[in-house]
Amino acid sequence: MSELTAKTIAELRDGFRSGAFSAREIAEAYNAAVSAARTLNAFTVETPDDALAAAEAADQRRGNGELPSLVGIPLGIKDLFATKNVDTTAGSNILKGFRPPYDSHVTANLRKAGAGMLGKLNMDEFAMGSSNETSAYGPVISPWRRKGSNVGLTPGGSSGGSAAAVSAGIAPGATGTDTGGSIRQPAAFAGICGIKPTYGRCSRWGIVAFASSLDQAGPMARTVRDCAILLEAMAGFDPRDSTSLDLPVPRWEANLSSDLSGKRVGIPREYRIDGVPAEIGALWDQGIEWLKDAGATPVEISLPHTKYALPTYYIIAPAEASSNLARYDGVRYGLRVEGVKTLDDMYSATREAGFGAEVKRRIMIGTYVLSAGFYDAYFNKAQKVRALIKEDFRKAFEQCDVILTPTAPSAAFGLGEKMSDPLAMYLNDVFAVPASLAGLPAMSVPGGLDAQGLPLGLHLIGNELDEQIVLNAGLAIEERAGFTARPEKWW
Ligand code: GLN
Repeated sequence: MSELTAKTIAELRDGFRSGAFSAREIAEAYNAAVSAARTLNAFTVETPDDALAAAEAADQRRGNGELPSLVGIPLGIKDLFATKNVDTTAGSNILKGFRPPYDSHVTANLRKAGAGMLGKLNMDEFAMGSSNETSAYGPVISPWRRKGSNVGLTPGGSSGGSAAAVSAGIAPGATGTDTGGSIRQPAAFAGICGIKPTYGRCSRWGIVAFASSLDQAGPMARTVRDCAILLEAMAGFDPRDSTSLDLPVPRWEANLSSDLSGKRVGIPREYRIDGVPAEIGALWDQGIEWLKDAGATPVEISLPHTKYALPTYYIIAPAEASSNLARYDGVRYGLRVEGVKTLDDMYSATREAGFGAEVKRRIMIGTYVLSAGFYDAYFNKAQKVRALIKEDFRKAFEQCDVILTPTAPSAAFGLGEKMSDPLAMYLNDVFAVPASLAGLPAMSVPGGLDAQGLPLGLHLIGNELDEQIVLNAGLAIEERAGFTARPEKWW
């Protein structure tokens, strides 16, 4: 890593402002790092000229009064966000060649804050997956390796490109999206931070839809502070998204404090599940100690419907996906298979050629649970269970201010290890999905390394709209964990 690519966003921002280096130097250092790391397959498109143009503008603005937060900072953008005139494919063949004539609300906000773009980041197709292996561009390879081994590992998914890029030092920060864990699980696997805000904080406008009642954008970066800076720029009301929250964006960075005096940390009994490695349990206990040291009091809480969260998610998410993905019919966007007889043949040939196996599985499950004969038994039932899961959290937050759990039930696994077993793959999100179903803010912060030298994350869940306590507890952990490990460069 060059000196500049080793810096956090806060350090880049402050150094640029004080004149220690120029925005051009930052952009050039990152552009060089991106092109030197193609082996990782983290980017689907590189946009060095975009990063340079934003840097040029930043250098011209320096010294001319108050600057917005991200002037001089280049970022990686998950391929799920529409980016004006730049390929936006959601990791799918069906959208290959699609160049939206507009920016998503979130990426437009980042531009308004002064950020440039290094490129589009690889991801699981339509954000369906936990390992990045469902991408039409092939998997992202994690920059991390087990001690003494060169087996290729997953960076997690679906925001695997974002996680790999930030941990490898080829982007100082990136956007991610989280429907059922896709910011938090890859952040944990890659030893970085990632926060999913309260549902509705970030507009979904211009983000390719997977499951609309769950999809939320959020930042992934090396530190808690960097996540606060990015989230402040990404969030905000947007009348084009009917679920966007019409609330001012809090000053999360200015209000960061790792003093948790008087705060209660909920430890959910039901999250001690079988089959989770002892090291993860030990890190969880260590996390409780760190939060106690920061002034918080641990309290045992109960989230009794947790055990139904994964099955509920795997009914609701595919149901919404099957409806959202109906628009890819060869008429309006991307791929169209020609040379068939009828319109119906064109639809099915296009969808057959354009979607990968996992996406087809979700469409079939989703269509089935929404069908007339099964709607009540599955979809309606799942909606009721979702309400109970939400209610569990409402009660829990009468007893505590923030909840601490592990982020994922394992460290990063090998590429190919779980692709033939969708249920094992779905289990990755066992700790992440309940907060998604309840629409709550949640974050993963690196806690330490396992015996094989791979990162493990701790997961914090806050009450609705209380991103601040999540960030503050994250900061308390970050300060105590002293996690400075970075993958050794082999790429
Ligand atoms: N891994 C989960 C899934 O495959 C979550 C994905 C996400 O959050 N986008 O659906």
